[in-house]
Amino acid sequence: MSVTKAPHILRIDVVERLLAHHRACHGVARVIGSRGEGLGVRVAGERVATLQASGPREAVKGLHIALEAILETERMQEERQRVISERIVGLTRRLREVEDRMLSSLEHRKLQLLQQQRRLADVASTDPLTGTLNRRAFEASLAPLCQASAHTRDPVAVLFCDVDHFKAVNDTHGHAAGDRVLTRVGELLRAGRRKGDLVARWGGEEFVVVLPDCEQEHAMAVAERMRVQLKELVFEGEGSFSITMSVGVAVGVPRDEALQEDAASLIQTADQRLYEAKQSGRDRVEGGGRSLRMAG
Ligand code: GH3
Ligand code: MG
Ligand code: MG
Repeated sequence: MSVTKAPHILRIDVVERLLAHHRACHGVARVIGSRGEGLGVRVAGERVATLQASGPREAVKGLHIALEAILETERMQEERQRVISERIVGLTRRLREVEDRMLSSLEHRKLQLLQQQRRLADVASTDPLTGTLNRRAFEASLAPLCQASAHTRDPVAVLFCDVDHFKAVNDTHGHAAGDRVLTRVGELLRAGRRKGDLVARWGGEEFVVVLPDCEQEHAMAVAERMRVQLKELVFEGEGSFSITMSVGVAVGVPRDEALQEDAASLIQTADQRLYEAKQSGRDRVEGGGRSLRMAG
């Protein structure tokens, strides 16, 4: 007895039991490959094996039919398995596509939220009229800047700027023209800043600029450039007009153990020098014994 390899997986135990039964009752019973002498076993019209058997015609025919039925069942199971596997592969692919889409939309949403968060942080820290930092954001940014200066020993420069006779601008040209002036002052102060510089609206028509790693001489030159640039602007109100500003400059290296105190003292000194600039006639930069009014 032998069951040779057919193109389908034969349930060998079942086939062998059938063949053994036939052999026991009638004589020869074996299955060989698809070629050879004997009864062709067909599945879906294709000859897949050959049955060689002896015995009564009806018994051989019964064995032949049973074999074909077993093989057909196997083929159908195999086919069903294949369809199921294909569906599983298809479903897995779709699942992966959905997963990819969900992941990329999650990434997109995360990015949107981050941008939104950044925009909100910007709005919360910016003075809406002038685009400069508001007082709260300025104070929060000043501390780490002073700390860095205390470590590196590079000086910090504080420029306290105040528009001269601004009340008269409002009185003469109206509050809206005054607002336009403040907006333009904010733009001008921000225009030349380096990374790390702080430009903030201290309040009303007063601005504070902080320049890290900046020596006195350079700070005076920066303040003077701003003063001259502002003076050259022409505004429209009740007729065209120009404005000037006074600046007080203080430069120093805060001590690590007295950061807050020294930062406050730098601002206070710059404010005091601004006051001196006002007392000396306005439209000038005052830097502690050094008054600058090089041009204009
Ligand atoms: P000084 O040269 O001594 O600095 O005189 P000043 O007129 O500039 O200073 P003062 O403090 O007398 O007046 C400041 C004015 O700034 C008064 C206030 O109404 C005006 N002001 C404050 N905030 C705003 C604002 O947001 N918009 C406008 N248009 N005016 C403002
Ligand atoms: Mg003023
Ligand atoms: Mg003022």
